[in-house]
Amino acid sequence: MTEFLNFIDGRFVPGRAEAFANHFPSTGEVLGEVRAADRDQVDEAVGAAQRALKGPWGRMALAERVALLRKVADGINARFDEFLAAEIRDTGKPRSIASHIDIPRGAANFNVFADQVMTLSNESFEMATPDGGGALNYAVRGPRGVIAVVCPWNLPLLLMTWKVAPALACGNTVVVKPSEETPATATLLGEVMNAAGIPPGVYNVVHGHGPGSAGEFLTRHPGVNGITFTGETSTGEAIMAASSRGVRPVSLELGGKNAGIIFDDADFDKTMEGIGRACFANTGQVCLGTERIYVQRGIFDRVAEGLAAKARAYRFGDPFDPATTMGPVISAEHRAKVLSYYDRAARGGAQILAGGGVPSIQGYEGGYWVEPTVWTGLAEDSPVIREEIFGPCTHLQPFDTEDEAIALANNSPYGLATTIWTESLGRAHRVARQVEVGISWVNCWFLRDLRTPFGGAKASGIGREGGVHSMEFYTELRNICIKL
Ligand code: NAD
Repeated sequence: MTEFLNFIDGRFVPGRAEAFANHFPSTGEVLGEVRAADRDQVDEAVGAAQRALKGPWGRMALAERVALLRKVADGINARFDEFLAAEIRDTGKPRSIASHIDIPRGAANFNVFADQVMTLSNESFEMATPDGGGALNYAVRGPRGVIAVVCPWNLPLLLMTWKVAPALACGNTVVVKPSEETPATATLLGEVMNAAGIPPGVYNVVHGHGPGSAGEFLTRHPGVNGITFTGETSTGEAIMAASSRGVRPVSLELGGKNAGIIFDDADFDKTMEGIGRACFANTGQVCLGTERIYVQRGIFDRVAEGLAAKARAYRFGDPFDPATTMGPVISAEHRAKVLSYYDRAARGGAQILAGGGVPSIQGYEGGYWVEPTVWTGLAEDSPVIREEIFGPCTHLQPFDTEDEAIALANNSPYGLATTIWTESLGRAHRVARQVEVGISWVNCWFLRDLRTPFGGAKASGIGREGGVHSMEFYTELRNICIKL
């Protein structure tokens, strides 16, 4: 049994709140215990983060800070197999995914934002004054202070470091609240921080749940100067309300109900490869995943058959076995939610083209498995098409014209991402800018240049992260005006 401790002021400490079990999603077994922090311990973590701002970290030259961040990246890579095993035990995701995405990209975030902060420039304006002397304005940046980092469970290390790396690069200190489902890699990172020489109090981790627990204690704490959150839209609303006390800035990366659009001039094989991943990668537990697809009528049947075949081809089982291509969903509770939509789709008269149930896997009967599923035939106002399911499932709907496809895609309260498939250059540009989302992919999906703006429109979030946009959030810009 692994014990997951809090990491406060450079030390691992058992929590004083009620501990809870950590399950292995592939089997349902209890593999560990999470020693959750109580309100006083969250206060201690914020206090440690405040003190660290005034200690060596706050006085450190940028070049030295950047060198430490690179040591953190090296430290993760040096313990790659431990991080990989920890992430797999927490999520059940196949090794093939975690070893290519979660761990390497989690480490890379520290190098990317180390590069980014070194090239950050600030604006400057000269102005005329009545006496002819003029004045010079220039902006400087400083850290915001203590940043609360509240994370989800679907890409635990990757999404957490996506926030921690730029926050530290900009000279802030952080208190991280990992998801209650996935405490492992954030905890392990504490060891790497100490080994790299990051001063105590710069990186802190408090474990627990959301409401009435570490998540709420942290986001309501008056000593926190900014909150960055990735998770569900309803949680984002609660966190935004918490951030209004003291008028603290907030960055929200929230849910989605992303549309895919496939035109009849698309390259069929490339489309099937890309859209298959968009629907089923990480068992559909990707905020950018495609849960509704609009297909031009002439190729509808061919796409439907192709996608159903993709869904049927996944192999479940031991996540450490390289042959396994799909893991379980994260928890029994989440499986119940996903299956409630499978049930609604069936009761609502959907035609089930693939899946629709629970696979039976010898030796893994206790795991939280669901079948990758493809439906068609539901009305656009069905909850299955309106609400985020966050499972390996998608619904196909035919369309005739470009305008109709755009209108269908935009008929959603969410606006995170879209994936568009066409070989027409003009159409690609036309459609990509009309879909109301933060990210439009054309002939690809999940292709990420970390310098580009990342975030959601509408109910999918506030603000952008990535590249200079992260730097905007994690720094306070100050204008200095000098009369010459
Ligand atoms: P969640 O909102 O349930 O939980 C996320 C985190 O918030 C957890 O650490 C949780 O403990 C904490 N939390 C919950 N209630 C809280 C409260 N009242 N105050 C403070 N903290 C609280 O999300 P989840 O189920 O872990 O993750 C799945 C969701 O995340 C999906 O909706 C998905 O679309 C979204 N997501 C979005 C992005 C993006 O970049 N837009 C990326 C990944 C996941």
